[in-house]
Formats: sequence, structure tokens, C-alpha cells
Amino acid sequence: MKDDTPTAARSSANDALARIRPTWVEIDLAAFDRNIDAILRRLPEGSRLIAVLKADGYGHGAVELARRCKPDRVAMIAVAQLEEAMELRSAGISLPIIVLGPLESAQIPVAAQNEIVIGVTGPEVLQRVCSFDGELHIALKLDSGMGRMGLMESELRRTAEMIRATPRLHVDAIYTHFANSGDPRDGFTATQNASFDAMVQTMRAAGINARLHRANSGATMRGLVNPGEDVRVGIALYGAEALDVGNSRLEPLMRWRTEIARLKRLPAGHAVGYGETFHTTRDSDIATLPVGYADGYNRLLSNRGHVLVHGRRAPVVGRVSMDLVTIDVTDIERVAVGDEVVLLGSQGGETINAEEIASLIGTISYEVFCNVSARVPRVYRQGERVTVHSRFTS
Ligand SMILES: *Cc1c(COP(=O)(O)O)cnc(C)c1O
Repeated sequence: MKDDTPTAARSSANDALARIRPTWVEIDLAAFDRNIDAILRRLPEGSRLIAVLKADGYGHGAVELARRCKPDRVAMIAVAQLEEAMELRSAGISLPIIVLGPLESAQIPVAAQNEIVIGVTGPEVLQRVCSFDGELHIALKLDSGMGRMGLMESELRRTAEMIRATPRLHVDAIYTHFANSGDPRDGFTATQNASFDAMVQTMRAAGINARLHRANSGATMRGLVNPGEDVRVGIALYGAEALDVGNSRLEPLMRWRTEIARLKRLPAGHAVGYGETFHTTRDSDIATLPVGYADGYNRLLSNRGHVLVHGRRAPVVGRVSMDLVTIDVTDIERVAVGDEVVLLGSQGGETINAEEIASLIGTISYEVFCNVSARVPRVYRQGERVTVHSRFTS
């Protein structure tokens, strides 16, 4: 592979890697670019991509990913909270940003000043944006059946009246959110579509017209996108599976790696870890890894999870501690202190993906990603170019 990274930049990246703990997640920025392209290829005429980068880009790092979102390919960035939007603005991100979550009155001027589109999630937020004395861009969230956020059918008439009475408000979009679009056998998405279409008609009849967006990753990967409507895609951008059954996975961006810190041979019958939940049944090579549940390696993976060593699976044995994990490498040859261990991602020909970890602990890939804590440095790779982000160093 051609490396156009200046030698000084490369060696300073290596210095940075040498200074941080050997546990980090690598984020493949080129794969992010390719995932954006793969999603764009699925969109019908006139549809645009809104990249969902809430929760620090599902744990991947919102700022670095936002920098990759070029205006010719990504129309807008969506986050959940104003603080998340402000983090992006402070980092110099100039793309349009929408805050999906509810805003408090005192947050409205901050959003206005920073050209952030406010998701109007209900009558309370509508009241707050109408009371604001200045120009504002908003997007109306309609509840098409999820029963969570959004304006209800019964609230639409009053909504339209308030908007018409407040010319300072610009309605950039009307949107809704699907509850079950990841299930290809579901019928609820069609129900929600019909309900949303009817509500949009009501708004049009009341003089409120705007672009629409409704599809999340599941609906987008199922091809349920109307021409000219935008899509809000999160999980598919990160290369995790968007469907409950089927294979629509793009390229995973995250690879979580560590190194063996301590390796010891224990005799048969020896306890490992808190609570003595594991005892060796033979002479065993037990390796200790400098990573734990405080880093987001879930404690429910105790005696259940696997990691990769030399491209082979090794079981987690004993309890996951706050800062340490123990694995059994007896069946893997020539293992040594300092060898790379992969907790999530690929090594050699083997892969442990977020869905595998999620199913072991009864959750979804989203939570596996989000749980990788701020204590774990993020190392961004694009070819040979490496950037290290750690909360402990600048
Ligand atoms: C999180 C979120 C999305 C993205 O969902 P994915 O399943 O990750 O694609 C889209 N819209 C809203 C309102 C969301 O909260």
C-alpha cells in the first residue's frame, strides 16, 4: 500500500501509540467513507443521507466521523442532544446539524446562534420555539405509532396554527421514526408509513410543507425509501447489521484490541478471578488482559465471551474485573506477553463482531459500541495515517 504520510507524522503517531495503554479501539475511516458510498448507492432519486452521529458516533467518535462527512455526500448530521451538536460546531463542523432530542427553553438561543435545526418532539418544545424571539429552523417530529416522542394526530391542527402565527420559524423537515423496521417480516412499518403519510397530508392541508425523512438503517437497508425523501442512517454506517434476520452488513469500523500483560501457567484445580467462578481443569496457560468492565467490556461476558489471539478464539475465563480480563490460551501455541488480543473485530481470518457480543449479553450491537468507555483511546486509521484521541492526552 502506498504511504503518503510524511515520515515525521508517522513517527509521531507511533510515539503517541507507544505512550498510551495498549488497549485501544481502532476506527477505520476509509471503511466509513465506503459505507457512506454503499448507502448512497441504495438511495432512490432525490434522497439524501443524514448521518446519525449521536452518542459520540455510537462510540466511534463523532468529531472524526463528522470531518469525513462531505457536503456532496452527506446532507446533514443528526445528534440527540444540543451538547453533541455544540461539540461538532466547536470542532469546526459546518454541515447542517439537527438535534433530535427535546430542548429546554434556555437551549433554544444556543441552537439558533449555532445554526442548529431543532427537532420539535412535542407541544412543549413547540411552545418553546414559538416563544423564542428570533429566526429558527425546526423539524417536526410526528408520532406515527411508536408511542414515544413526536406530535400526535390530535396535536397537528394546533401545531400548524402556531407555526403559521410565527413567521420566524422555518420548518425544514417533517419526520417520523420506525419502531420495527429491522424485521423484514414486520407489518408495523407499513402501518406507520400509512399513518405518517396521512399526518403529512393533514399538515399540507394546513399549509405546512417541508422535506420528509422517515427511514432509519433498517428501512434503508430494506429499500423502503421513497424518492425525494431523506434517510437518517446510524448503525449501518458503523458496519453493524441493521436487520434482525438477513445479511445487510457493511464494513465494521471498530476494532478493539489489547495486549497480553501477564501470562502464567496454573495447575489443574486453580481458581481464576473474583468469586472463584472458574477453576482450571488441566494445566492451563492463563493470560491477563489490561481491559475491564470500566472500559466497557461487559461483566456479563465473564466465562462466556471469546477473544482472538493469533487469529484463534480463546475463551474468557473467570469474572471480568473492572480493569482486567483473564483468558485461557492453553490451546494456542507460542503465546507470549505483548501479543495482540482482539476483543471486537478481526484478527487473522477470525472475527468477533458486535452482534456476537450483543447476543451473549442480551443486548444489541448499538449498546456494545456505545459502552466502549471514554477511558479507551480511539485510534483513527486511514491507510497508514494514524490519529490518536485519548481523554488523558491532547
Ligand atoms: C438513532 C436514530 C436513528 C438512527 O437509527 P439506526 O437504527 O442506527 O439507523 C434515526 N432516527 C432517530 C430519530 C434516531 O433516534
